[in-house]
This record gives sequence, C-alpha cells and structure tokens, in this order.
Amino acid sequence: MNKKVSILIPCYNEEKSLPLMYQALCDLVSSPELGERYDWEWLFINDGSVDQTLDVLKELRQHDPRVCYIDLSRNFGKENAMSAGFDYVTGDCMIIMDADLQHPPALIPQMLEQWEQGFDDVYAKRLSRGRESWLRRKLSLFFYSLLQRSTRVDILPNVGDFRLLDRKCINVLRRMRESQRYTKGMYSWIGFRKKELLFEQQDRVAGTSSWNFMGLFNLAIDGITSFTTFPLRLATIIGVAVSLAAFLFLVYVLVCTWIWGDPVQGYPTLMVVILFLGGVELLALGIIGEYLGHIYHESKHRPTYIAREYNGELLTDGYARL
Ligand code: UDP
Ligand code: MG
Repeated sequence: MNKKVSILIPCYNEEKSLPLMYQALCDLVSSPELGERYDWEWLFINDGSVDQTLDVLKELRQHDPRVCYIDLSRNFGKENAMSAGFDYVTGDCMIIMDADLQHPPALIPQMLEQWEQGFDDVYAKRLSRGRESWLRRKLSLFFYSLLQRSTRVDILPNVGDFRLLDRKCINVLRRMRESQRYTKGMYSWIGFRKKELLFEQQDRVAGTSSWNFMGLFNLAIDGITSFTTFPLRLATIIGVAVSLAAFLFLVYVLVCTWIWGDPVQGYPTLMVVILFLGGVELLALGIIGEYLGHIYHESKHRPTYIAREYNGELLTDGYARL
C-alpha cells in the first residue's frame, strides 16, 4: 500500500491564491514518482475567511477528492488553524505550507526523500526573506536572538512552518493543546530527527499578507512568554542588582552624612532613584502580568479552534476527531 502524504494549508482570505495553489499541487503530483508512489491529501483550513475562500474550496472538492477542507467557525489565527489541521490530517506524514505560494512546492520531492531516509522533521530554511521592510527583518532577527539566548531548545531564525513532519511528530503535537500557541517553538521542543533544507522564499502570488506590526509584536511576546520563563528570572536578577546598588548607595549616604553632616540636599538623586525604581517595578509587574494572563487563558481549557464543517459534513460538536 502507498504511504499517504497530507499537505496542510491554512487559508485566510485566499480566494485568489487557492486556484493557483491547487494547480501547483496538481502539477507537482503529475510526475509518476510522486503521483503513483504516494497517496495525497490536501487539507485546507478555512480560517474564517470573509471572502469566497470556502466556496472555492467546495468547488475544488467536488472535482477532486484529494482536496479536503475544514471550515472554522471564525478567524482563529494561523497557529490555531494549524492545530485544527493536526487533528484532521490522515497521512503518514504532513507538509505544512502557506496558501500564497510563498513556499515553493518544488521543495516537496526533496522533503519526501529525506523523510524516506528516516528524518522525522524536515524543515525548510529561507535563504532570503522575500520582500519585507528593513525594520521588520531587523526586529524579527532581534526577537530570535533574544529567544535563543533564553532557552536551551534550538529556535532557528528564518525557519517557519514550511516543513514535513512524520506521523509520530503529528501525534505528539496533537497532545499539546495549549490555547496560546507558539507552534515554531513546539517543533523544536518535541525533538526527533531533524533535517534542514534551504529554499528561496517567493513573493505572495495574490492577496495581501494579513500580518501587521502589532500582530508580529504580539506574536513575539507570546512566543517568548509561552516558551520560557526567563523574563521572570530577569526581573529577579534586576531586583537583586538594584537592591544591591541601593544598599551600597545607602552606606555611601550614611557615611557622607556622618562625616560632613546633613545639608538637606539630594533632590535630583532622590528623583532619579524613585523614578528608576518605579520603572523597574512596573516592568516586573508587567512581566508577571504577562504570565498571569497565560495562566488565566490556559486555565479555561477552551478548545484551540471550533470547526463547523469537514468536507461537507456539518459538525455538531464543533470539535470532532479528538
Ligand atoms: N493565515 C491564516 N489565518 C490568519 C492569518 C493567516 O490561516 O489569521 C494563513 C494565510 O492564509 C497564509 C498563511 O497563514 O496561508 C501565512 O499568512 P500570510 O501570508 O498572511 O503571512 P506572511 O507570509 O506574510 O508571514
Ligand atoms: Mg505569506
């Protein structure tokens, strides 16, 4: 029996990209060594699109049973849409791709080759980052170096969700049901045999990127706080350092007063110390608050997504296949 390869494609307002994406996949598997060697499933997740994405998917499914789709009840964000995909893919391995063809399907044969050689997580690393602003690139690299320094698990820059995962990785990922998801960190965290491939990131074929600066900033904060508690430790370290400095300063002030008396001065130093300490305290509170927020959200144990429909079948529990 053939092995089955699932391709997981989260889609948010991708009506224009989808036909192109579908065509690219068809072209890919038209070669005998891919088309006959493997069974294929192309699982599209409609992440609450407000355009005709769902209709396009239904149309594709009518003519081609390889096309599968899940329709989510609203826009849950790419991370959650992918978690729906983890639950529903049926293949022996899965390849995660963007719908906008920024991830070249031409890399898939190489990924499968590495998978056949026994690698469980074949990830694609961007050689260049495509068209994006200088600021976004710098901030993104800064974020990775920050994250990398605070954890022992390898989190690689320029590596995204474009990767092949073996069934055993999928099964482990399915059990990680945190509601605030930083999937890139999860891939690293689960371990298994990894292999790197390089690719040239393309520009979007149609539509616009749904990310904006605030979105990326939030993702970065969530990435750090859902992956490491290092900022909490940092707050402790700053606290200790500031207390120590304050103690030394106290000794200095006392000694000065004993020797030279107390001429009631020091308004500037007082202001500086108060403002500085106030700032540090607020920062520490903010950090604690971030983690408290995580605990609050996780403690609700809400599902990471709600599915309305799977391949035309209406779901009554919103959350089949667990
Ligand atoms: N996406 C999604 N839900 C969202 C936002 C994006 O499923 O809320 C999908 C989108 O359709 C695309 C992929 O995630 O397939 C990457 O999104 P995008 O191209 O907008 O991000 P970028 O490539 O700029 O990082
Ligand atoms: Mg994109």
